[in-house]
Amino acid sequence: MATTKALCVTAQAPVNIAVIKYWGKTDEKLILPLNSSLSTTLSMTDLCTTTTVMASKEFKEDRLWLNGKEESVSSGRMQNCIGQLVARSGLLKRLGENVEEGKAREYHFHIVSVNNFPTAAGLASSASGFACLTYTLGTLLEVEGDLSAIARLGSGSIYGGFVKWVKGEKADGTDSIAVQVAPETHWPELQILVCVVSAKHKETPSTSGMQTSTETSPFLAYRAAHIVEERMKQMEDAIHKRDFQLYGELTMRDSNSFHSTCLDTYPPIFYLNDTSKTIINLITYVNKHYGKIKIAYTFDAGPNAVLYALKEDTPLLLHLITRYFPPSSDLAHFVEGSGPKECGVESIESLGAQLKAKDASVEALLQELDAKFTPQPASIQRVIHTTVDKGPHVVTDDALCLIDTATGLPKA
Ligand code: ADP
Repeated sequence: MATTKALCVTAQAPVNIAVIKYWGKTDEKLILPLNSSLSTTLSMTDLCTTTTVMASKEFKEDRLWLNGKEESVSSGRMQNCIGQLVARSGLLKRLGENVEEGKAREYHFHIVSVNNFPTAAGLASSASGFACLTYTLGTLLEVEGDLSAIARLGSGSIYGGFVKWVKGEKADGTDSIAVQVAPETHWPELQILVCVVSAKHKETPSTSGMQTSTETSPFLAYRAAHIVEERMKQMEDAIHKRDFQLYGELTMRDSNSFHSTCLDTYPPIFYLNDTSKTIINLITYVNKHYGKIKIAYTFDAGPNAVLYALKEDTPLLLHLITRYFPPSSDLAHFVEGSGPKECGVESIESLGAQLKAKDASVEALLQELDAKFTPQPASIQRVIHTTVDKGPHVVTDDALCLIDTATGLPKA
């Protein structure tokens, strides 16, 4: 007989940001995407979801607490995800449980999850949330077979590094799967800056937004039929060859293309705000100045920018962001994460002087930019400097467990 303690698992999952965007479904129940997509997995040291799941016969129903607040578990994708994990649970079968979908169960789950970054603000919390839930519950239930097919029901992934989600051709969705394109160790020079422009919940959640786009945007249908599949091949090639010029161009083009479908939706959906657009203009100007791509941007369904640069150009990127989007105070703590030190940045405050001392031509660039861009204090709230990293994993440190196993409720 399993003890209560054994029926509790905690895991952490990273955020992944699509560089070839997923938007629109051909099947709402099976969650079949209109087109394939490709994502980079960000380091869990900086951004992650932590989820604890406990199973007990004493629980009357499945319950979920997200970021300290109880939420409903009745959404289609949540039910779908739990139902499929239960149906394949080796543990529940051994315990004599009826695992058929839709059948009453004796065991129910308490799920407690925390994102250490803004939820529902366009930083793919739903993907990391579902990846984490699938991984945690899947581990607890000793699910037989491939977890990745279930994780992708919430557009999450259980792989690290560079991961594609293949659209697939079969009506039952069995060939719509996640595949690792390259592991997290493949391209260590690639640096990522997540600029949190707004931590507010977006007005149009992704699920309803993509549904309206699928119904009303002819450009979305065109994009899926004629643009994305070729771009996927080029992107895989760029990643394999670590070709930042191609990677950057495709990343920016696909972000622009995705936001065009939002504008083509009727009524239109606006995810970018004025700060997002100024970031795009700044990066475009810098790349033009150098005659090559030094920085690339991508925006998910929200105003927050995810910026890519190679290690050698990251100090410049950090300086540009802190120069034109400074915090209202405390510049020293504005950039979070272990990245700056690893890129040779001793102090954010003296970065401008450090750059000019190393390369005299930076002065000319900054003069040009100063004439064009006025600093906009406090328009970026946080900057998280991170890298590509591994996928979800189980944590055994009791301090990270979010459930008080004596009561089955969230720890106070
Ligand atoms: P985002 O851009 O952050 O992915 P969405 O609107 O697409 O925003 O999805 C946000 C929703 O995803 C939340 O309202 C919640 O239902 C779900 N979600 C987010 N984080 C978690 C989590 N850690 N565990 C379970 N569900 C989550």
